[in-house]
Amino acid sequence: MFKKIPLHTQILISLVLGLVYGVLAIHFGWVEFTQNWINPWGTIFVRLLKLIAVPLVLASLITGVASLSDLQKLSRIGGKTIALYLMTTVVALTIGVVVANVINPGLSVPSEMREQLQSLYEGDVEATAQNAVAAKSKGPLQPLVEMVPSNIFSSVSDNRAMLQIVFFAILFGIGLIQVENAKAKPMIDFFHSGNDVIIHMVDMIMLMAPIGVFALLAQTVTAFAGQGMGQVMELLGALGLYCMAVIMGLGIHSLIFLPILLKLLSPMKLKTFFQGMAPVQLLAFSTSSSGATLPLTMERAEEELGVSEEVASFVLPLGATINMDGTGLYQAVAAIFISQAMGIDLTFVDQLTIILTAVLASIGTASVPGAGIIMLVVILESVGVPSSGIALILGVDRILDMVRTVTNVTGDAVVATVVAASEGQLNTPVKS
Ligand code: ASP
Repeated sequence: MFKKIPLHTQILISLVLGLVYGVLAIHFGWVEFTQNWINPWGTIFVRLLKLIAVPLVLASLITGVASLSDLQKLSRIGGKTIALYLMTTVVALTIGVVVANVINPGLSVPSEMREQLQSLYEGDVEATAQNAVAAKSKGPLQPLVEMVPSNIFSSVSDNRAMLQIVFFAILFGIGLIQVENAKAKPMIDFFHSGNDVIIHMVDMIMLMAPIGVFALLAQTVTAFAGQGMGQVMELLGALGLYCMAVIMGLGIHSLIFLPILLKLLSPMKLKTFFQGMAPVQLLAFSTSSSGATLPLTMERAEEELGVSEEVASFVLPLGATINMDGTGLYQAVAAIFISQAMGIDLTFVDQLTIILTAVLASIGTASVPGAGIIMLVVILESVGVPSSGIALILGVDRILDMVRTVTNVTGDAVVATVVAASEGQLNTPVKS
């Protein structure tokens, strides 16, 4: 029955139903029922997606790099990809800084509200700050050190070590290029067939998307139940300008800048792009994880946008791991909001520091829910703003996480399309 309805419509319907159900559940006191009987389906769905994330990144990056057949091609495509990823992230951050300076969301937070929020989220702040201390206290080159795995088996058993897996896969792929053809072939065939199997697994898992998305939304909404709807509304009211600034920035980036880039640098029709990517964006919104969305991003980019397998399997896993336009933009707005709310003036140099640190922080952000706010602590400290300030925004972070993840996956798909176009490897399927 579901087969006839396009995937994005299925997901959209589930999303809305989940939302409505969540509100009803709070209203009628079905929260415990939801926790026991609905939430697990969302968790199962996300687990299934994560289950294939590591094998997918490994298999697709290794075959992706190896299929680039010579090092020259690899460095050309790799160079373009990294340059585009960096450029789009810097633009996203600049949009964030400009929007935050125009809207000045932090100036309207009443001081009682600030104190109230800080005491409400004291415990959460401590946990987040501790995570951030681990990320930060080891010196400026630590992110580089952590990118290099010392044991690949321990990296592949940790979804958060995706950057290490990417590093290994690229190195392994380069090794394969250098080995003589006859010897490399069995290895390449092995990963190729692994890749194909994974794509079929994605198809199976996506059959569960409508149920999974419904449950995830119901879970997200009922999580607010403890605080009561009234309090949630109050929170949204006080943080309304901040949320608006983040969402506006994300909107400008995703709906104006990225489409312009697409138009300028590829022959892709915007309608084809957004239609093809709609299920991916909805899944990113529901799961708040670009890592969990990656399998679908790859499938849709190849099948609906016509990005070649060679480009998709190199550019997209890399992007899901290091390219986070939405996260960077959000981090910039959040840092400025918190400083303003705490009455700390940021100079021009401070704002530049935010951009620079946020580029690195967004690269280092894991592609899982809530990772962005951990790295935000590092950014705040780089400009001398107390990290306890994140208490102000923790309450609405989940909602913004959903929206910024949509921008993250959109940015990856745009870059994949542009790189494919520049390599003559974009064969947009003609739709009947
Ligand atoms: N949830 C985001 C992602 O997976 C990362 C973040 O900003 O927290 O893309």
